[in-house]
Amino acid sequence: MGAPEPRKTTPLVSREPGQPNTIVTVGDVCFGGTKVVLIGGPCAVEDKDQMARTADQVAFVGGTMLRGGAWKPRTSPYDFQGLGAAGLDLLAEAGRAAGLPIVTEVLDPRDVALVAGTADMLQIGSRSVQNFPLLREVGACGKPVLLKRGMMTTVSEWLSSAEYVLAAGSKELVFCERGIRTFESALRNTLDIGSVAVLKEITHLPVIVDPSHAAGDARYVTALARAAVAAGADGLLVETHCSPDKALSDGVQTLDPTQFAALAESCRAVARALGRDL
Ligand code: PEP
Ligand code: MN
Repeated sequence: MGAPEPRKTTPLVSREPGQPNTIVTVGDVCFGGTKVVLIGGPCAVEDKDQMARTADQVAFVGGTMLRGGAWKPRTSPYDFQGLGAAGLDLLAEAGRAAGLPIVTEVLDPRDVALVAGTADMLQIGSRSVQNFPLLREVGACGKPVLLKRGMMTTVSEWLSSAEYVLAAGSKELVFCERGIRTFESALRNTLDIGSVAVLKEITHLPVIVDPSHAAGDARYVTALARAAVAAGADGLLVETHCSPDKALSDGVQTLDPTQFAALAESCRAVARALGRDL
């Protein structure tokens, strides 16, 4: 008798030999199919007009989902923390009017039921990737989950976090690479494009990229987005705002409507070159 097989630490997220890609559906949006999903919206939900205008601009250039933070994980307790439940309602209203499903971050396990009652997809932010009670709560809420990579988590730790979500009952999880902390300081974070290729190989779940929090500077967001599509990402999560100079958070990395339209067009060209679309 040989030694027993080592127990797989992530049996639910790992790809079995020959296992096809899992498609995660949010409304009429499919993650993991031939179409690259473009999610756009502001860092934070601020007011009704901002959300309505930004949502229209996202839809106009072919974006298919709307984002916006209602609960913001801010480094300083004195910075704008988001509008909370009121922000969630504004996001939902803008999404409905523009015909876009919505994704928003949930920070506190106590808010999961409330957010799941309104949002189409729940985001676990970078800072919460190893908040295990939150991962369990979100995994059991019945809504698809967008799991950001922690700024200091390895791919292996990130996979284990995803396993928490699936072990709690969810079958619908999308990974989102958003850059990690390295010695390099030219950009806010270092986008780990390699993680996209690795995850596409070793998991059956979709993988998208957030070039905005990776770059930290609007000038570099489109180049990183193109690289993400070229590396095989199933979607992009991009911060855009009708007036980035007035944004209450992350304005420097936020694309204006013209820049967002240009990003959509150039990433579409990359997608088409690879037999996909956007
Ligand atoms: C966000 O997407 O709003 C966000 C806070 O990103 P991250 O968790 O990747 O920093
Ligand atoms: Mn942000």
